[in-house]
Amino acid sequence: MQIMIVSLMLTWYGHATFTLAADGATVVIDPYTYKAGLFTYPTRRFTGDVVTISHNHFDHSNLGAVRHPRPGQKPLVLRGLTADGKRYHPIDQRVGKLLRIRSVNAYHDEVQGKKRGLDAIFVYEMPGLRIAHLGDLGQKRLSPEQLKAIGAVDVVLAPIGGYFTAPLASIKAIVGQLDPWIVIPMHYKTTYTQKLPISGQTTCPATNGSPPPNVFCLTSSHIDLVAWTKRIRSAGKRQVWLYLTFVK
Ligand SMILES: [Zn+2]
Repeated sequence: MQIMIVSLMLTWYGHATFTLAADGATVVIDPYTYKAGLFTYPTRRFTGDVVTISHNHFDHSNLGAVRHPRPGQKPLVLRGLTADGKRYHPIDQRVGKLLRIRSVNAYHDEVQGKKRGLDAIFVYEMPGLRIAHLGDLGQKRLSPEQLKAIGAVDVVLAPIGGYFTAPLASIKAIVGQLDPWIVIPMHYKTTYTQKLPISGQTTCPATNGSPPPNVFCLTSSHIDLVAWTKRIRSAGKRQVWLYLTFVK
């Protein structure tokens, strides 16, 4: 009998920062750093057993913000790149009985890292569900090797703001390559990142008019990916975009 996880809570804290909670463990993904005037999502303290870092830029690598749930212990830090950011540091780590975390080597730009360096795509696997966080992916397309290494994914957390990451058209093409059930947009302009030269999201909130049929604008920053994947699967749709709302 195949074991299925019962729930997998995903919470968005703005930008590329999330927590994933499943099987008694919390993973903190790409915690950002507050910067006065530039990057003003509220300073947060995260509690997590594990932290994953796609690359070492300030908006993705604030290890100091994360504490282990048990006093005296430190979270397990999984960096997809070396500390100087110049080389890959491939990850393949089991956490508890059900969670496996892997990294897939990628580029922060479309010229093999010559402009903005390297990026690591993180893959979070549990029985029946696979999630990919693209980090600051800058490539035009994923290579066949990368697609094979990532595997079939259910949920993709994708940067859509451009400028520092691939333009939206490329991200859409990459989503097409991965063909997940659910896409969660991230790394776009909000009221907290007005000074960053990234684009805002264009299809949500729903107050801008009714969103296209494959777009849902949620009023929560917190969702159960198991329940949502089931729902989207039973509707027979693919590549449904779920915009989470940043909640302070
Ligand atoms: Zn970034």
